[in-house]
Amino acid sequence: MKRWNGWGDTAILYPLPEKAGDYLIDLVGEATPPQDAVLADVIATVPDSRLPTHPLIQTDPETRLKHARGQSFPDWVALRSGQIPVFPDGVAFPQTETDVRSLLQFARGHDIKLIPYGGGTSVVGHINPEPGDRPVLTVNLHRLSRLIALDNTSQLATFGAGVAGPEMEAQLRAKGYTLGHFPQSFEYSTLGGWVATRSSGQQSRGYGRIEDLFAGGKLLAPAGELIMPPLPASAAGPDLRQLVLGSEGRLGIITEATMRISPLPEKESFNAIFFPNFEAGKKAVRQMLQANLPLSMLRLSTGIETETTLKLAGHEMLIGTLERLLSMRGVDEGKSMLLLGFSGNRHIVNTARSEAVSIAKEHDGIHVGQQFGNQWQKGRFRTPYLRNALWEIGYGVDTLETAVTWNQVDATLQDIETSLQEAMASFDERLHVFTHLSHVYSTGCSIYTTYLFRLAADPDENLARWMAMKTAASLAIVQHVGTISHQHGVGKDHRPYLEAEKGELGIATLEALARQYDPVGIMNPGTLVK
Ligand SMILES: Cc1cc2nc3c(=O)[nH]c(=O)nc-3n(C[C@H](O)[C@H](O)[C@H](O)COP(=O)(O)OP(=O)(O)OC[C@H]3O[C@@H](n4cnc5c(N)ncnc54)[C@H](O)[C@@H]3O)c2cc1C
Repeated sequence: MKRWNGWGDTAILYPLPEKAGDYLIDLVGEATPPQDAVLADVIATVPDSRLPTHPLIQTDPETRLKHARGQSFPDWVALRSGQIPVFPDGVAFPQTETDVRSLLQFARGHDIKLIPYGGGTSVVGHINPEPGDRPVLTVNLHRLSRLIALDNTSQLATFGAGVAGPEMEAQLRAKGYTLGHFPQSFEYSTLGGWVATRSSGQQSRGYGRIEDLFAGGKLLAPAGELIMPPLPASAAGPDLRQLVLGSEGRLGIITEATMRISPLPEKESFNAIFFPNFEAGKKAVRQMLQANLPLSMLRLSTGIETETTLKLAGHEMLIGTLERLLSMRGVDEGKSMLLLGFSGNRHIVNTARSEAVSIAKEHDGIHVGQQFGNQWQKGRFRTPYLRNALWEIGYGVDTLETAVTWNQVDATLQDIETSLQEAMASFDERLHVFTHLSHVYSTGCSIYTTYLFRLAADPDENLARWMAMKTAASLAIVQHVGTISHQHGVGKDHRPYLEAEKGELGIATLEALARQYDPVGIMNPGTLVK
């Protein structure tokens, strides 16, 4: 069963390794477990629905509560404390396109706001209803999950947009294919959500981001229907698919998507390489990219992230042995871990790997084989479960990300980390911050920062601290001309910073587009643009 106030399946636990508790105390101080609200008590706070009845809509309080919030830190504070100011008035579960059309018509007729809902894994407030006089209907698309068509010749697969990652990959695997899109939220996030947020998977270096994979589809909007044929290329004016990518539910509901798929790789190899420091790792990474090596993933951790990852990983014997071995070869304090993935034909994987290892050696990198890489691959969708365990002993954790050109990487990374530290210091609290580079491109890369802190007893205090950190880091990003989101989207939390990236005319264009597709203003108002 899905957790209602945390991440993932209730049957899956990720307990903290034995010595990790002392490590956390050293880093940010001793924590006090928070008093979480009980489901029945929160259900009792859900007000009456304002919706007229409709056969596709459920209005029971529990269903509405379970669709009220996503997975951001403020969402967790709301769910765990039970202080949720706004709930959707109902949740619809359409099974067909005809159902979606009927819901759009119903919403227009009754002036109801609609929030398209995929897996609810948003971390930027996309799916949270805002207060107001008009009723809010959340449209959960998970029943639109069918494999509609498979074109083996063109390697295109069309799915209902509500299909979640595991269900989609299982259907493709059975036919010998993969989409190759593996965001860390893979277990719950959906195809429509990925398209609507311009998502990026962990192996995007090899398979491409969602915008590279999205070949076409269908969007049902209050103003009409947009059919996007899966053309391999076109010079017929601007590409309308690009408007739907990142539309965040503002233009309409994506009901189906046609995706470029790949044959299952003959071989996959995930490897760890340790460098004496982050600087050496960065040089090696840039050289690997400039050599155009066919990598499927790459992730380079700073010294602090490397240390934190090793401390929280458990497997003390294995890690102790590894650290002794590295230390004997001069890779010790401040070491930086690089994870490298290769996918595809056996020959290409082997050649690319040995080329990458030899570049790493030029920068004093030590390849420690595949055990670590395989461990990462096996556990890559488990890491978010650690957030449950940390919360329960009194620690909060959040992440933020951007992408900048290579010449801005060092300064941006430094300023993000410093701005977060300073914001938390103003509350007389310590913060543990660490970062990795991933999703590398020839002109730059994404910067992904995680920050860990003690929770306060008062939910409002937690929100105030988070807001101070989020604001400071977002301003640092914008100052370095970084994107306000490399992969999590804009939602409501990043909206104040979008104009810095798009400009006044750009925002006016997006607003005009929303009016064109949704003249009555019912589609997810407040998300992406006002
Ligand atoms: C632990 C964790 C790890 C994550 N890791 C990654 C990562 O590695 N890469 C990454 O890109 N993101 C990541 N995310 C963020 C999130 O998973 C993505 O934004 C994801 O694409 C959201 O998909 P969803 O189906 O859950 O959409 P939801 O959260 O349900 O919705 C997100 C937005 O998309 C709109 N939407 C959803 N479906 C449709 C549809 N069919 N038609 C129109 N609009 C629609 C919604 O209205 C909303 O505005 C992570 C989140 C968590 C909690």
